[in-house]
Amino acid sequence: DDEHDDEAFSSYGDGDTIVAIATPVVPNAGGVAIIRLSGPRAVEAARAVFRPASRAARAAAREGAPPSSHTALYGVVVDPTSVPNGSRRVNDEDVDADALDVVDEVLVLPMLRPRSYTAEDVVEIHCHGGSVCVQRVLSLLTRRDLLDPSGDTAGGVRLARPGEFTLRAFLNGRLDLTQAEAVHSLVAARTERAADGALAALRGGLASPVRDARARCVDLLAELEARLDFEDELTPLDSDAIAAEVAAVRADVAKVLATARRGKLLDTGVTVAIVGKPNAGKSSLLNAWSRSERAIVTPIAGTTRDVVEARVECAGLPVTLLDTAGIRRGAGVDEVEAIGVKRSVAAAAGADAVIVVVDATEGWTAADDDACAGILNRKRGEGIVGEADEGESAVGVRAGGGDAAGGGGDEWANAKARLHKVRGTRGLDGSSNGADGDDDATRRDGGATAILAVNKTDAIAADVALDAIVPVEVSGKFAAVVRVSAVTGAGLEELERELGRIVEGGSVDAEGGAWSANQRQAEALEQALGALERLEAIVVDGNLPVDFWTIDLREAAMALGAVTGEDVSEDVLDVVFTKFCIGK
Ligand code: GDP
Repeated sequence: DDEHDDEAFSSYGDGDTIVAIATPVVPNAGGVAIIRLSGPRAVEAARAVFRPASRAARAAAREGAPPSSHTALYGVVVDPTSVPNGSRRVNDEDVDADALDVVDEVLVLPMLRPRSYTAEDVVEIHCHGGSVCVQRVLSLLTRRDLLDPSGDTAGGVRLARPGEFTLRAFLNGRLDLTQAEAVHSLVAARTERAADGALAALRGGLASPVRDARARCVDLLAELEARLDFEDELTPLDSDAIAAEVAAVRADVAKVLATARRGKLLDTGVTVAIVGKPNAGKSSLLNAWSRSERAIVTPIAGTTRDVVEARVECAGLPVTLLDTAGIRRGAGVDEVEAIGVKRSVAAAAGADAVIVVVDATEGWTAADDDACAGILNRKRGEGIVGEADEGESAVGVRAGGGDAAGGGGDEWANAKARLHKVRGTRGLDGSSNGADGDDDATRRDGGATAILAVNKTDAIAADVALDAIVPVEVSGKFAAVVRVSAVTGAGLEELERELGRIVEGGSVDAEGGAWSANQRQAEALEQALGALERLEAIVVDGNLPVDFWTIDLREAAMALGAVTGEDVSEDVLDVVFTKFCIGK
C-alpha cells in the first residue's frame, strides 16, 4: 500500500503533507470554517498545534499513538512557540495551559487512511467562522519549523495546490477521473438538475459505460493483434462478428455522448432570443417570465434598443433569455435603434432557440414577416446575417452561409462576441457558433427551433381561432405555437414546457441516467465515436488490411480511457485540476 502511494505520487514529485482552507474564506461569515490536512504527517502536524481537552487524547499525542479515526476531539489550537518551557510540545502534561497563546477553540476530526477523501491520513480542523481564525491556524500549520525545529520544510506541511486533494483521491484510486471532475461540477452547479447530474457522475454513472466500452475495444484490439502476430495459427477473422461488435460499442458510446450533450446544456445553459416587431410585447414577456423588471417596458415603439438578458430555469436547464430590439424595416428607424436591431439579429443567429412574439390584437402583419424573416427559413448550416443599409431598408435579414463573421459591421461583431461570452464554451463539436454545426442541427430538428408566442390573448376574445390571428402557412413553420399573455401570465407554463422540449429535443436519453459530462469528456467521447464510425465503415467495406483496423480501434480505446482517467496524460490532469479551487 505504501509502495503504491509513493509510486502514484512520484510523477508529481512529492508525498508532502498538504493543507488548505476547505470552506470559503469570507470575513464575518459562516459559523464554522474548516482546514483540511492530508498526507503522511497530517496527524503529526495537527498535534503540533492542537491541545485536546481530553487528558487521554493528550497522552496519545505525546506517545504518538494513532488517534481514533472518524472521532472528533474538542480542544484548542495554540501557538507552539508560546509553550513556556521552550519545548513547543503543546501536549506536555506539565505545560501551564493558561500561559499558552490560544488561537481558536476547535473540533479536530482525524480520518485515517485509507478511509478518507484522499485515501491518505486526513485531519480536519473545524475553526470558528469568518476569515481570521482559520487564517491564523493555517499560518501556524505552514510554519517552516512546525515539524522540524531547524526550519527544514522538505517533507513538512505545505499549502495545497488547486484541486490537489481531489487529485490525490484520483491518483490513489479513490475516484476515477470522471468522479473527480464531478466533484468540481457538483460544487459549481447552478441548478438542482445540474447538481443531480454531477452527483450521478460522482456515483460512477458516466464512468461505468465508458469503462465497459473501452474494455470491449481493448479485447477486440487484443484479438486483432493476435491475428496479426500469428496469422496462420488462428481461424480466419469473422469480419461480420467484428463489425457487429464495433457497431454495438459505437451505439453505446453514442448513447453516452447524447447524455453528455444534455449534461453540457445543464452546465452552460441555453440561450433563447425573443424577437418580434416593436410593441409585440417582448419585453413584457421577458419580465413576466423572469418576474423582474430587468427589461424596460414601454408603449413607445422601438425603445427596447439593446439586447436585454434575463435568466430563468426551464425544464431544469438554466436559460438565458435575450430580449431583442424590435426588428423593423423602413425609414424612421434612428441610428441607435438600428444598432439594437443588428444586435437582435445577431442574438437570434446565435441562440439555441427563438421565440417570435406576435401581437394577437393586431394579428400577423408585414412587420411580423420582416421581424422573423430568415429566422423561420433557417436550415442546417445556415446563419442569419443582418446588415443595415443607409437607404430604404434599414435592416435586411437574410439567410447567410455558416460563416457568421461574414456579415455586419463592428456592432454586429461585438454583439456576436458578447453572445459567445454569454454562451461560454458551447458546442460539443468545438464550434461556438450556434448557427452551424451538426450538434445544433440535431437539436434544431431540421431548422424549426422557433416557437410562436401569440401574445396579448387577454385582450382578445377567448374563442378567436388561431388561424384568424396567424395564417396557417406562417404558424405551420413554427415548432410550436403557444397562446400567452404577458399581462396575466397565462400560457407561460406551456411556453416553458415547449421550450424545454425543443432545446432538449433529440439529445435526451429518456431512460438513461441524468449524469452529466463536461467539455473535456465530451470531446474525448466524440473522438472515440469518430474512430469507431471509421472503423465500422472499413470493417464492413473489407478492403483495408487488419493493421488499419487497429489504428482506429486503438484511438477509440485511448479516447475512452482519457474519459475515465485510465489512459490519461499529466497535461490533461493539470488542465482538469487547475480548474478546481484551493482546498477541494
Ligand atoms: P416590445 O416592444 O415587443 O418589447 O413590447 P413591450 O413589452 O414594450 O410591450 C408593448 C406594449 O404592449 C406595452 O404597452 C405593454 O404593456 C403591452 N403588452 C405587452 N404584453 C401584453 C399582454 O400580454 N397583454 C396586453 N393587454 N398588453 C400587453
